[in-house]
Formats: sequence, structure tokens, C-alpha cells
Amino acid sequence: MSEYKKIAVILFSNWKLFVSYVFKINLFIDDFIMFLVNRKVVTKGEQQSIKNNDEDFFKIKVGKHFKLYEFFRSKIAITHNIDNKTKNQSVIENIMLLTEHCLDPIRENFDKPVYITSGYRCPKVNKLAEGTSTSEHLIGRASDIVVEGVDIKELFEWCKTNLKFNQLILETPKKGNSWVHISYREHGNKNEVKLM
Ligand SMILES: [Zn+2]
Repeated sequence: MSEYKKIAVILFSNWKLFVSYVFKINLFIDDFIMFLVNRKVVTKGEQQSIKNNDEDFFKIKVGKHFKLYEFFRSKIAITHNIDNKTKNQSVIENIMLLTEHCLDPIRENFDKPVYITSGYRCPKVNKLAEGTSTSEHLIGRASDIVVEGVDIKELFEWCKTNLKFNQLILETPKKGNSWVHISYREHGNKNEVKLM
């Protein structure tokens, strides 16, 4: 391979780093990737990676309205090329409980798609997301969600009034869109409500 070709390959495989270095628009690219993820435009590539890795398993239906891969999809994992999927049984059981008691009822009440912006997080993704070492995302017990066309405060208030949960947090970052963090555990739900 010629030197030029090698350089081209390196630049191409690190295109995001390269572009953000040159244009200093890292944030913009992250937002754009998130936009694609939310619009399900990225799913072709994602489905390909799922295909290479037990396609059918990660397409398992969870509850009435969700598929398992929706809980492993992660902007951070895509950006950092991390495999955020797991077959750990207790993680999957936690995801199923959260779906049955929280996510399916939300989906049915609003009758609109629920987007899981962050579900399960492997330790690497959790660290990059600046999650705590005791984060319920690490065991599949929590998900961050938005509902298409529904005001985030309305979603938060509805969950607060109608659901049983361990933690419900309305997360409003200084920059970007808000989301609702919701977690559910089989026993000892604390029904803790927070604004962050
Ligand atoms: Zn969260």
C-alpha cells in the first residue's frame, strides 16, 4: 500500500476525529449522530452489526412494543465503537420488568413512539456518559426516554402520577434536549422523584 493510501485509510477510519479537529465541531457531529439514531437512519449499519452478532437474539420482542436492541443502542457506543450489547440474563430480566411496568404503559397512554436514548450501559459506556458506579443503567434497570411529540414535562408528570418506579428524574442539561430517566426494580421501589 502506498503512503498516500495508508494516510487516506487512517483519515477515513478516524473521520470523526479528523473532521472535529479541523472544524472544531465535535458537538455538532454528536448531535447529528443522535439525530440520525432518533430518526432510525443509522439502523441499517446497526442492523448489520447486530446481524454479525446473533441477529435474532437482539430482535427479541420485549414487552408489547419494544425490541431488545433498542435498549443497547447508544450514541456513545457508536461514537467510540464500543459493543454495548449483552446477553446477561439478569440484565435482560431487568429490561423486561422496566418495560412491563413503565415503558409499555407510557407507550400505550400516549400512543406515540417511545425513544430510548440510553438504556443498558456497559461499564465503558457508563464511564463515558459520566454515570455513577451504582447507576441503574449498568444493570438494565433504567432507561432515558423521550416520547415523540410529547412535552417532556407532561411525560414526567404522567409517570409521576400513574406509575410505580424506583427513580424518576427529569433531566434538563444546560445544552440540548431534556429527557426522563426512569427505573424499576422487582422489589423495594422507592418512588423517588428528582429534577436534575
Ligand atoms: Zn438515565
